Amino acid sequence: MVSIKSPAEIELMRESCRLLSEVFVSLSKMIEPGVSTLDIDREGERLIRSRGCIPNFLNYDGFPASICVSVNDEVVHGIPKKNKKLKEGDIVSLDAGLIYKGYHSDCARTYAVGEISPEAQKLMDVTKQSFFEGIKFAKAGNHLFDISNAIDDYVTPFGYGIVRELVGHGIGTNLHEEPQIPNFRQKRKGILLEPGMTICVEPMINMGTADVCWLDDDWTVVSEDGSLSAHYENTILITDGEPEILTIER
Ligand code: MG
Repeated sequence: MVSIKSPAEIELMRESCRLLSEVFVSLSKMIEPGVSTLDIDREGERLIRSRGCIPNFLNYDGFPASICVSVNDEVVHGIPKKNKKLKEGDIVSLDAGLIYKGYHSDCARTYAVGEISPEAQKLMDVTKQSFFEGIKFAKAGNHLFDISNAIDDYVTPFGYGIVRELVGHGIGTNLHEEPQIPNFRQKRKGILLEPGMTICVEPMINMGTADVCWLDDDWTVVSEDGSLSAHYENTILITDGEPEILTIER
């Protein structure tokens, strides 16, 4: 069942997401060559806990860190490591969330490490824009898969691969709630969107084929062809009008 949040719950979701956006703004400033992916995780956990919140990714199904840090061909769920340092020209995706008074938030961004290639920048730009194309349809009265179809229609002409094994989701008192939100075209319409739904829309786009595989750590998802991958996610609130993007930087 898809939960509809009460006005009081929406306020808690807003605050959870606002705090998470602060964490992302801080973390974005430490992205530079030489920083280890574990440094990012440690600082992320500190920033979350210093706000009186709990990192919701830590120990989720046994995940060993607070921040997923995925570099270049890593799509999502990269495990932070002390000896894994960012290099000039890399792209790095951070995915993280927190719990504030029992309410979860979830957000992801891909950042450039120093100067990156125009091709990598374009992949990042298209991935981000695909989120905004998708959420043009995220309003009460539309169907859930209108979002999925809009993302696919925008991304596919660029020749990129839309990851299919991982999808967006509802969010609230759990990190992952119904419904699942694919980023590619669906044959069905999906549920009717209603005010008070909070969902995470999170396109994951590969420069090459859509296929992904899992590394031996059983967490890190990589593009099968080794091509770069980008990720952009926000927690949003469905309203009668424009959706409210709860985790946006401000
Ligand atoms: Mg998510």
